[in-house]
Amino acid sequence: MIDSRAAVITAFNEPLEIQRIQLPELDGMAMLVRIDASTLCGTDVHRWEGGLSSDSVPYITGHEPCGFIEVMNAPRTDILGSPLKVGDRIVWSYVSCGHCYFCMVALQPCLCRGRASWGHNRSDRSPYLLGSVSEYMYVPVECQIVKVPENVSSATAAAASCAYRTVMHAFDRLGAIKAHETVLIQGSGPLGIFASALAREQGAKKVLLTGAPEGRLAMAWKMGVDDVLNIDLVDDASERVKWVKDHTEGRGADVVIQAATNGAIPEGLKMLRDGGRFVSVGVGGKAVVAVEGLPGEMTMYTVRSGEPRHWLQAINFLSSRADRYPFEEMISARYELEQVNEAMSAMSSFSVVKAAIYPHGVHSIPGH
Ligand SMILES: [Zn+2]
Ligand SMILES: [Zn+2]
Repeated sequence: MIDSRAAVITAFNEPLEIQRIQLPELDGMAMLVRIDASTLCGTDVHRWEGGLSSDSVPYITGHEPCGFIEVMNAPRTDILGSPLKVGDRIVWSYVSCGHCYFCMVALQPCLCRGRASWGHNRSDRSPYLLGSVSEYMYVPVECQIVKVPENVSSATAAAASCAYRTVMHAFDRLGAIKAHETVLIQGSGPLGIFASALAREQGAKKVLLTGAPEGRLAMAWKMGVDDVLNIDLVDDASERVKWVKDHTEGRGADVVIQAATNGAIPEGLKMLRDGGRFVSVGVGGKAVVAVEGLPGEMTMYTVRSGEPRHWLQAINFLSSRADRYPFEEMISARYELEQVNEAMSAMSSFSVVKAAIYPHGVHSIPGH
């Protein structure tokens, strides 16, 4: 191994290039991981389209990795304190500074101004390999490591590294869902579909979901929702609100999980009962949302990203409920590294739920 082939964005909205990127120096407890699978996320598409002004090219795309420890020069433990070894299959957290107001006083490390995340870091500057659509990736010493159990595939674990752990974070902030409560989920992307299973397992009386297209709603049904509404078929927002009210004796949902675009927030608030809880998963900081009236005594949360424990919780949930929910079916398309542009287009057009790229080849995956 002398370098790492990786999918690099050299210009926004232009085809990604497969480049050979040099390997970083591994100082102290930093590690090199051989990427088994990387899933793509809406954020990767958004960044590729030039949606985030802070980005500067070239950089390796992707922030949802799962892989095997390839090089480890010093002893290191996982998030539970158990020793790691070369060959362990892992996912790993983002990094926050650990000594600022958000990290130490507010205990909200996702808001740390010194936070490091992947999939937008220049590939021509050390440590080069901080994007997941790459044969190898650099794991900084500050990351918390979570081992992936046998019954969770690498692609599903990769999806836990962003989408699913953010949903875990959202449920953490919501607190317990009571047995009499109805949960309404807006959105049938990976966030909304995963949230369906979690709401069910947390004991909601009823789980409702609004979203589209039909293929994604079919996944939601498999995650145990009680009813879905296809928003492509019901244009009128007031009809959609009525659908939720009809399911809740006219009150509205006890909990609304907004896992769709920011534009869904006003409608979601109308679907919430007075005094209910609303959580916006991954809402953008610059969102302009015009709201016409608010439910009385409601509580609203917004979450972004996740804390290291949410990576662990997501992986635990996927493993412990693997027999109950077809999580593996969420990975609806598999690509070779060279097909990265095809995978990006599929994500951009919503024609797949979750696209997975296998930098060492799809053929290396048992059963595929
Ligand atoms: Zn993501
Ligand atoms: Zn900090």
